Amino acid sequence: MRIVLLGAPGSGKGTQSELLVKTYAVPHISTGDLLREAVAEGTELGLRAKAAMDAGKLVDDATVLGMIRERLGRPDGVKGFILDGFPRNIVQAEALEEMLGDLRKPLEAVVLLNVDMGILFKRLTGRRICQDCGRVFNVFTSPPGAPPHCPESGDASRLIQRPDDKEEVIGKRLEVYEAQTKPLIEYYRLAGLLQIVDADADKETVFKSIQRAVPG
Ligand code: AMP
Repeated sequence: MRIVLLGAPGSGKGTQSELLVKTYAVPHISTGDLLREAVAEGTELGLRAKAAMDAGKLVDDATVLGMIRERLGRPDGVKGFILDGFPRNIVQAEALEEMLGDLRKPLEAVVLLNVDMGILFKRLTGRRICQDCGRVFNVFTSPPGAPPHCPESGDASRLIQRPDDKEEVIGKRLEVYEAQTKPLIEYYRLAGLLQIVDADADKETVFKSIQRAVPG
């Protein structure tokens, strides 16, 4: 399986990637996760990327492409991959096509997770991440009564909000998506790779739709 999950911030790319990894045993390659790791480790790349990320803007193409080239070259990529959050603009999509062409491993499908803008805003402002295991929760969909907490640690204080999920940054991220990432929908439609999935539903329903849309 060699696919791209395309969709606005909050459309469920990370959640669906987790389910795909469990079922198809291919690596999940998220440029957002790779960048956040670099920031947390304080590497030179992380320091370069941090300002753009905090402002909800895209990190420069050269940095992201260097990172992706290195990641796709690792041995675990032979079975395939799920790309999440990459490509984010046409320059990155063209570079990806070239990289995969060199590796003789072209994309098999690009799945667009289609979600209503109002829902996205709620998903993003409510999103919380467990600092211990990285699992994602949402304050709006957690069972009522108890504060949202990770069943692993059982401790609500371990859930944190990503700095770029704060309300003042979300508007910018959605704007960047509209201007720079949305043109990829037409790009991949023309390439004959686009599959559109209604991602407003619960995660199991969305997962089933993705499974119907992608090659096994
Ligand atoms: P994400 O976790 O995919 O929402 O990404 C978080 C942030 O990382 C984005 O708002 C960007 O600042 C940066 N980022 C992630 N992927 C890319 C990419 N492919 N190109 C440029 N910046 C990216």
